[in-house]
Amino acid sequence: MISNRELFLKNTAQTSESPRLIEVERAEGSYLYGPQGQKYLDLVSGFNVSNIGHRHPRVIAAIKEQLEKYMHVTVYGEFVQAPQVQFATKLLEQLPPFFQSVYLTNSGAEAVEGSMKIAKKFTGRRQIIAAKKAYHGSTQGALSLIGNPAYQEAYAPLLPEIDFITFNDQKDLSHITTATAAVIVEAIQGEAGVRVPDVAYMQALRQKCTDTGTLLIFDEIQTGFGRTGSLFAFEHFGIIPDILMLAKGIGGGMPLGAFVASKEIMDVIKSNPMLGHITTFGGHPVSCAAALASLETILEEKLIDGVAEKAALFREKLNHPQVKEIRGLGLMMCLQIDNFDQVYNISKYCAENGVMIDWYLHCETALRIAPPLTISTEEICEACAIIRQALDKFC
Ligand code: PLP
Repeated sequence: MISNRELFLKNTAQTSESPRLIEVERAEGSYLYGPQGQKYLDLVSGFNVSNIGHRHPRVIAAIKEQLEKYMHVTVYGEFVQAPQVQFATKLLEQLPPFFQSVYLTNSGAEAVEGSMKIAKKFTGRRQIIAAKKAYHGSTQGALSLIGNPAYQEAYAPLLPEIDFITFNDQKDLSHITTATAAVIVEAIQGEAGVRVPDVAYMQALRQKCTDTGTLLIFDEIQTGFGRTGSLFAFEHFGIIPDILMLAKGIGGGMPLGAFVASKEIMDVIKSNPMLGHITTFGGHPVSCAAALASLETILEEKLIDGVAEKAALFREKLNHPQVKEIRGLGLMMCLQIDNFDQVYNISKYCAENGVMIDWYLHCETALRIAPPLTISTEEICEACAIIRQALDKFC
C-alpha cells in the first residue's frame, strides 16, 4: 500500500523542496502524536493557532453542538447566524468601545485584503505603507505588503502605491503623509524573527497617523488571543489602532479570521456599491462556535495570567551560552543563534527527540518558540532540556 507520505509528495502541492514530512495522527493538549507512536511536545502551536492547546474539550463540545444545528447556510452578511453574532459580541466586549463592528473572514490574508479595501474607501486615498520584513499573508494584496523583494519579484506586478518604512524606526514616520490611506504593521513583527517595537515608537506611529488622517491597521494575527501576555498586543503600547486584524488563535483550531473597526469605518462596505466585500465561507458557523468557546476558555480559565511566568521559565531554562538573544513578549519568543545550518539541525534533532520547534520566513537564524498558553511547567522543563541538548550538540 502506498503510504500517506508518498501520496503527500505525489498528490498534494509542495511549498518547498524539503518538507518536514512529520505525519500527525492525532493531537491533544500540548502534544502531537504520529502513527508509529511518536509523541511531540508542540512549541509551534500550528503557527500561533493552538493557544488553548489542541482539541480543547470546550471547543470540541461547541463544534459538536453547532454541527447538530447547521453548517454553511449562506454567504457572510445575509442571514442572522447565532454563532457569528455571539462571537462578534463577545469579542467586542473585550475591546475598547472604539471597536464596534466585526467582519468575519476565513483567514488572516482575507482579513488583510478587507482591511486594505475599507481603508482606501474610507479615506479616499490610495497609498498604503507597510513595514520592511513584514508578513501579512500570501494573497496578492497581502503579498504586496511583505517588504521582502525575494517573495515578490516572481509575482509582479503586485498592488501599486505601496511604500515601506523600517519597523521601529521613528525617523521613517515622516513618509506617512496626508496622502497615506493606511499604515499596516504587525504589533510585533513575527516572521522577521519576533521584533518587539518600542512603546515610544508605537505611540509616535499612532500620533503620526492621527495627525495625517491615516488609518492605523494592526495585524494581530500572530499576537492576538493571549499570545503576548495580554489578550491583544496593542494593549502593551497604550494605543488603539483604527482597524484590528485577527486570525490564527481566534478559532481555537478552526479556520477563521476577522477585521474589527468602528461602525463609521466599517460601514463604507455597505453601499456604493452594495456587496462590495463579500465572502462565502467567512465566519463559518462551526468556526464561530469554536471561536466563542475558545475565547471563553481564555477568559474563564485565566490563561493569560500564566503567560509571563511561563515565558520567564523558558528564558531561564534556555539561557545557554550559544543563544545570542531571546527575543519576544510573553509566549511569542525566539532564540537567536548563528546560522541556518544550526537552526535546521536543532529543529531536526528536537523533532527526533519529541519537541517541535521551527524557524521564520525572514529570519532563518532564529528558532521559533510559541507553545500553547496551556503548556505546563513540567512540559516547559522537558522541552527546554531537549533544546539545550541540541544547542550543545550543534552550536
Ligand atoms: N499576518 C501575520 C502576522 C501572519 O503571521 C499570517 C500568517 O502566518 C498572516 C497575516 C496570514 O494569515 P493566513 O495564513 O491565515 O492567511
